[in-house]
Amino acid sequence: PPTHPTYLIVMLFLVTYVLFTIGKSSSLTCPLPPELATKLHVDPVEIDSASTDYGNIVHNKPAAVLYPSSIEDIQSLVKASYNCPIPFGISVRGNGHSVYGQDMAGDGVVVNMKALRENNNGIGIRVSKKVLFADVGGEQLWIDVLHTTAEKGLSPVSWTDFLHLSVGGTLSNAGISGQTFLHGPQISNVYELDVITGKGELVTCHRRNNSDLFDSVLGGLGQFGIITRARIALRPAPIKVRWSRAFYSNFSDFIRDQESVVRSSQRNIANYLEGSLILDNGTPTEWITTFFPPTQLPQIMSLVKKYGIIYCLELTKYYFKDDIESEIDQDLQQVFKDFAHVPGFINAKLVSLEEFLTRVPNVENESQTHPWQNLFIPKSRILDFNSGVLRDIVLKRNITTGSVLFYPLNRRKWDDKTSAVIPDEDIFYTASFLHTSGINNWQVYEDQNEAVIQFCEEAGIKIVKYLADYTTKEEWIKHFGSKWITFQERKSQYDPKNILSPGQKIFNSI
Ligand code: FAD
Repeated sequence: PPTHPTYLIVMLFLVTYVLFTIGKSSSLTCPLPPELATKLHVDPVEIDSASTDYGNIVHNKPAAVLYPSSIEDIQSLVKASYNCPIPFGISVRGNGHSVYGQDMAGDGVVVNMKALRENNNGIGIRVSKKVLFADVGGEQLWIDVLHTTAEKGLSPVSWTDFLHLSVGGTLSNAGISGQTFLHGPQISNVYELDVITGKGELVTCHRRNNSDLFDSVLGGLGQFGIITRARIALRPAPIKVRWSRAFYSNFSDFIRDQESVVRSSQRNIANYLEGSLILDNGTPTEWITTFFPPTQLPQIMSLVKKYGIIYCLELTKYYFKDDIESEIDQDLQQVFKDFAHVPGFINAKLVSLEEFLTRVPNVENESQTHPWQNLFIPKSRILDFNSGVLRDIVLKRNITTGSVLFYPLNRRKWDDKTSAVIPDEDIFYTASFLHTSGINNWQVYEDQNEAVIQFCEEAGIKIVKYLADYTTKEEWIKHFGSKWITFQERKSQYDPKNILSPGQKIFNSI
């Protein structure tokens, strides 16, 4: 029992040990509330894990890792830092899928949201079938949101390609995928948030109440508050998804057809639109092998050899009733009839929504690094981007490994009041170079990434980095452009002591 002397002695020892170790090993300048003592981890395994993310390139050791048992624990931690004469940094690790240390807190405290998720101590996932929304803890993974809502025949409308990401993590960026052209990013599909600000206050915010905090946090890179609950828009889930891919040998044809899908969004010809580049690096990628019959592979590979790069357009259409095989075939022919894909190189599957949305597997490999580059490119310069970047840099260097995604987005579906930054044109493209490399050779990919940025700068192509990895304040000021003043004002209002999300290196750059 908690009053037993042995229990008390053990607890006292634990509290003293943790506080002593933190005090000794770190720059945490203030004692933490005793109720957090047993939830703070300072052992090397935890510290190493919190200083490594999916990218495996940036490593920054925190003083301690908090495994919260409740939302109140997170609040106590933030208050302790806020009330400390020299506050310490606090980062939230949703699922650690940042690629450049954005989820780290050097010498501060990392809050491991896995503890809330696995012990079911947060909000969890509560579906309201009547009003079509889900209240979801910021710590929850989208894969679990999918399974829970699907059980009720419902689904969020906007997704990411990969679902082992936390709700708080993607809402801090934008959350984009093939549904974004139609419904906007995930941050356009949230009704309400609960947020712990940098002062340790727990605030509910939405469009009509505390709307400034609501807008700040969405796409806010964790700078203004910790999301503990998000109310997410739901719709009825389709029964079947027609999933199709078609190859193009010509870039202009590829983007013209992609844009025609964006423009025809009112006509409901597709519920999802993406695209990717297939590069000549010897073996057919999974993008090809999982979708096209083995008999077609040699022909596809000879197309890649001939053109250097071929382009794959990817569409889905949702169906809400059974017995629709003939309707689906007709629809498919209708959609592709005016498209300029290579004749014969088109394939379609009929799958469930869950099968489609879980298409990207959860693979973690500690011996790999991920020097990724994600860019938004204004449509008006997309042909220059093709010749200067895709053909002159990517094709010529011929080092690219992993997927290269390339598809258009629709600015009108984004809310300019949020913190997210996008190009100032109605249609812009996202290009994602999702390199996978070894532990020691990521620098060649970084060099390529740098060459891309340099080319765009010299050519005057106003690209915007998504999931940006800047390290100086000057770079961030340039990134935010006309939004910087507001971003800075919001920071001084909601996190005046620069406690939250130091790993983004915006207000505490190196
Ligand atoms: P973490 O890496 O843990 O945290 C990222 C940032 O968000 C940190 O600054 C952190 O402090 C902050 N944060 C985390 N939780 C909260 C919270 N509750 N409240 C406030 N701030 C918080 N992005 C897309 O848009 N579309 C994709 O299709 C896509 N696919 C991806 C696939 C893979 C394999 C990977 C590795 C990344 C992908 N991403 C994609 C990027 C991804 O959305 C971001 O890296 C996201 O931040 C990862 O979520 P996470 O939960 O791992 O966040």
